[in-house]
Amino acid sequence: MEQADIVIVGAGIVGATLAWNLRDSGLDVIIVDRAEPGGATTNSTFAWMNASSKVRRGYGPDYVRLSVDGWCDAYELALEIPGDWMHVTGNLEVVAADQAAALEGDVRRLVGQGYLTQYLDPERLAARYPELVVDEGSAAAWYPDEGWIDGPALVTDIARRLEGGNVSFRTGDVVGFDQDGGSARVTSVRLASGERIRTGQVVVTAGVWTADIAALAGVTVPMAARADASVPGIVARATAPADGLRHQIMGGGDDFVVRPHRPGEIMLTGEGHGLELTADTSPEEALRGAEALLTVAAKTVPALRDCDVTSATVCLRALPADGVSITGADADVPNLYVAVTHSGISLAPTLGKFIAAELLSGRPEEALEPFRLARFR
Ligand SMILES: Cc1cc2nc3c(=O)[nH]c(=O)nc-3n(C[C@H](O)[C@H](O)[C@H](O)COP(=O)(O)OP(=O)(O)OC[C@H]3O[C@@H](n4cnc5c(N)ncnc54)[C@H](O)[C@@H]3O)c2cc1C
Repeated sequence: MEQADIVIVGAGIVGATLAWNLRDSGLDVIIVDRAEPGGATTNSTFAWMNASSKVRRGYGPDYVRLSVDGWCDAYELALEIPGDWMHVTGNLEVVAADQAAALEGDVRRLVGQGYLTQYLDPERLAARYPELVVDEGSAAAWYPDEGWIDGPALVTDIARRLEGGNVSFRTGDVVGFDQDGGSARVTSVRLASGERIRTGQVVVTAGVWTADIAALAGVTVPMAARADASVPGIVARATAPADGLRHQIMGGGDDFVVRPHRPGEIMLTGEGHGLELTADTSPEEALRGAEALLTVAAKTVPALRDCDVTSATVCLRALPADGVSITGADADVPNLYVAVTHSGISLAPTLGKFIAAELLSGRPEEALEPFRLARFR
């Protein structure tokens, strides 16, 4: 039977950044994925790297702090792993006149946390962005350090850099666990191929499938049901405007977000698609929704009028039941650690660092304390 000190189940951005932070541990680490590393939600996401949305959407101080840490740690990771995966485009959030005061307050809060943000009152917005069409009195926030992370590129780069070291990537579909009859501790991970990996520590970083996998060991991970309206989201690609797109632009409340993507491409998401999304929304409907999104965005950003949608995907958010990250083990199965989160593109750089520190030291990290499974009991 194969053996590893730590088995990580799921090689998306969360599992891969954790693996990266275990590279100098001297421990044998196997990261198992049933498919291409970085090929699931980490590939289909909108991938906006930010912490500002946590303040703007009214999350509590612990999650805001974790998100600001995540944003800082993404920059640190970019120094450790130089490559073409981090794209700092800046982000302009445009709001209607009746939202301007709230935006200004949020900008002050963000600045107070060391986050680089600038409030643009209606005059400054109009002077700086004459190409945008906005209603009278609209204001904006400018976040120069935000951008997007190419998740699959980062995961591939991590896998390449770890090759030949103490961390190995392995293809395998995890279908169960062997557990000690007395303590319930996991003793080995079972794969669909019939193979087993003996281990002293499992970490489940399987995104939207996390609850299913943890349940195999008898651990309940409360996550929003797939049928919940907040779980599916639409992400679309389109051809870029002739003169490109300067930054990410958000507008109309949550109606649209558009940003530069790979060369010649832009990416869109938002709620202005006019569909009732479900996990089963057909590809044709998704395309229709993406075209509606592009039309909505083009009202504010006229340069988008000549763009064409090239693809649209409905993908599912790995959403813990109360909306914020879950990190840690359940008391009943202490060596099965769970790490699942929405906003994982932004949070993975910091989650990977803190989770590795907890696993290696055996001591809880203060930053992760608010995110334990025990809060659901
Ligand atoms: C519509 C949408 C928009 C989003 N926008 C943003 C955004 O703008 N900014 C942001 O920060 N975040 C965003 N997110 C969230 C972010 O994309 C996710 O939180 C993140 O990608 C999750 O990464 P992960 O590693 O946890 O999961 P995944 O990338 O899904 O990785 C999990 C892995 O587990 C593997 N796996 C599953 N089951 C098994 C098994 N039985 N055996 C072996 N392997 C298994 C899968 O193959 C997969 O590779 C968005 C998500 C959605 C759906």
